[in-house]
Amino acid sequence: MNQIKAIVAHEPITPLKQNWSLQDVDLKDPGDDEVLVEMYAVGICHTDIVLGSVPTGTIGVQYPKVLGHEGAGIARQVGKNVQSIEPGDPVLLSFNSCASCSQCLESHPGYCDTFANRNYTGEQHSTNLSSTDEKVWTGFFGQSSFAQYGIVHKTSIVNGKDLIQDLSELKLFASLGCGFQTGMGAIQNITEASPDDTVLITGLGAVGMGAIMTAVNSQCKTIIAIDRVKSRLNLAKELGATHIIDTSEPTFTSLMEAVHELIPTGVTIAIDTTGVPEILEQSIKATRKRGKIVMIGVPPFGWELKVPATEHLNSGRSLMGCIMGDCDSQKVSMLQVVFLIG
Ligand SMILES: [Zn+2]
Ligand SMILES: [Zn+2]
Repeated sequence: MNQIKAIVAHEPITPLKQNWSLQDVDLKDPGDDEVLVEMYAVGICHTDIVLGSVPTGTIGVQYPKVLGHEGAGIARQVGKNVQSIEPGDPVLLSFNSCASCSQCLESHPGYCDTFANRNYTGEQHSTNLSSTDEKVWTGFFGQSSFAQYGIVHKTSIVNGKDLIQDLSELKLFASLGCGFQTGMGAIQNITEASPDDTVLITGLGAVGMGAIMTAVNSQCKTIIAIDRVKSRLNLAKELGATHIIDTSEPTFTSLMEAVHELIPTGVTIAIDTTGVPEILEQSIKATRKRGKIVMIGVPPFGWELKVPATEHLNSGRSLMGCIMGDCDSQKVSMLQVVFLIG
């Protein structure tokens, strides 16, 4: 039993307001299918914020829990069923899947039949609060990496020993586990973008930037990046966006109109990473006939998208959901990653 520090999320006192604290927890040794990972870096994503502040029971969430799902670290202790990792290997962490349901067998583990249980709920088998011995829910996305050490499920681990040269690179690559992988996969796996495509990307966090870099790699002829933060828009331009639209400008009125000014018939692909209802609705309208709209940002719980059925039918548009870019983290080639990060 090792005592470590972790950020423990407790039941929110005010709904949707985080009740998190840095606490001592006791960690058991890893099981046969698990690895003890010393965390060196972890990204934070909107999913941590949301699933660490919703009431108990919402899509399976339980408290107290340790969040964190973009971990990067060094393997320290390896369970006997884990063949691909040795102690001392640098590892990147991503989501968990069962490897045996029909979705997993068809290489779509982001849609694993047990995805919510494995990734949002987790397990109570490895970690207790040191102060009260209360069991803590861990294994969030197979890793719970908001901690000094995590017990990580083997399907959540990608060995980075052939890619990662030093600790600074290990830290840099943490957000591959969710953000960059999702943005990359939205372009490459879900829309299969080509040089003929005109792409609209709303929201320029790690997901949006990953989508821009992949659209550039796919030689998409037009890449329109939208945000309200100037520094992000400038970075998007540096990365290869052909047009930027700043929604904070006083002259900005409508996303659809701004896109139609650039491309009157609309874009062929719209990637929404914001989850803001109005932006998603406008993105659909900014997409041309037979266009593809990919929903990545999580809209407010309970919000329902209203689609005018006849208009949608006539448009031939495809409205697609997206989890983890439909990637199989174990199969995302290291070459793709190096190309993406540059
Ligand atoms: Zn599965
Ligand atoms: Zn995430």
